[in-house]
Amino acid sequence: MPKYQSRNFKKQYDLGQYAPLYRNSILSHLKNSRPPADRMAPFRLDFGPVSFGVARHFGFCKGVENAIEVAYETLTRYPDRRVFMISELIHNSFVNADLQARGLRFLKTAKGQQLIPWTELRPDDVVITPAFGATLEDQAALRAQGVDLQQWNATCRFVENVWFRARELGEQGYTIIVHGKFRHEETLATLSHSRQHAPTIVVKDMAEAQQLGEMMLGQRPMDDFAEIFAGKHSHGFDPEKDLERVAVVNQTTMLATETADISDYFRTVMIERFGEADIDHHVANTRDTLCYATKNNQSATQRLLEEPADLAIVIGGRNSSNTSHLVELCEQKLPTFFIASERDILSRYELLHYDFRQHKEQVVRNYLPSDRPVRILLTSGASCPDAIVERVLTRLLEFFDLTRKPEEVIRSSIVLAS
Ligand code: SF4
Repeated sequence: MPKYQSRNFKKQYDLGQYAPLYRNSILSHLKNSRPPADRMAPFRLDFGPVSFGVARHFGFCKGVENAIEVAYETLTRYPDRRVFMISELIHNSFVNADLQARGLRFLKTAKGQQLIPWTELRPDDVVITPAFGATLEDQAALRAQGVDLQQWNATCRFVENVWFRARELGEQGYTIIVHGKFRHEETLATLSHSRQHAPTIVVKDMAEAQQLGEMMLGQRPMDDFAEIFAGKHSHGFDPEKDLERVAVVNQTTMLATETADISDYFRTVMIERFGEADIDHHVANTRDTLCYATKNNQSATQRLLEEPADLAIVIGGRNSSNTSHLVELCEQKLPTFFIASERDILSRYELLHYDFRQHKEQVVRNYLPSDRPVRILLTSGASCPDAIVERVLTRLLEFFDLTRKPEEVIRSSIVLAS
């Protein structure tokens, strides 16, 4: 059975009528306008009393776009069959709720809790694999029910590339270190695939990488391993033996610069242990596994932060890993607010900000300066439809007496970018 290709369906179905959230946004046209020589330069939208810097790359990546199209097309194509997805399509509650309203059902929550037992599935059910992929264990459980996994497989090819490289490197004798959040679906899937071919361990950040590095250098007792990395490694992982040769890959939505830093860190650890002469034998070069979309969104946000501004607004799902990384980048420079949609902009004076570290919402008062033209930086995570970004922009414009029509400003920026 050939791997599912959503473009095969496009000839038969007009997705626009099924997915109003995802298409026809004027910001999408802006984003897709031909980039100038500087492909990271932000868009500038000047409305007079308020101006926006918009990241050159923001929002949906191709992997998410493909998975969404698979979901909508499948629901349309098989009105008489039950359509499931292994877990949430993407970390965006609006997208997931819209699909559920159209009949899609999730088999698991984003945290891995089973919502529908595997045994309830039948061979004629349609089960879509999301962009994050699926663990081998889930795949086996579905196959046992006679479910066809290949036909509706929307696993992103960049995620599959990580699995492919993990296998290749494992066969060469490297241990795989996955930079990711242990409970994230993609990290669980990568761990599951990687451990078939290599000892594999998950580190969530540089602090954990350093704890592991200190054990490798004998600066911290190996006894700490069991406590710090309990359950975050392949079965039988032996830190005494399995950390002689390492390769770092990532959950593709992690901060790419942090993954690169972690890889560089293990390189210095290995140089200290084994010397520089044979370092490539001890640390593999895995930069080719980083997802281009995550890198682009992060690089474009870093570039956006060079613009003078009063505040930044980052839009994305509350549980979106890549969105929280964009928030982290912006916070280093200026007041930053993490919102899910225009609904979180309560008024000119109040905004509902999501504190992703504390996992709680908080009302922020007077988030907009009142004594001068306001300059706002805007970007969004890989699971946020452009139409939501546009609604946020429109909502903010309501608070100002504009000197230029919004469409006119955006269209002139499209012309400038072309
Ligand atoms: S962020 Fe990258 S790896 Fe993840 S779905 Fe998007 S394109 Fe694929």
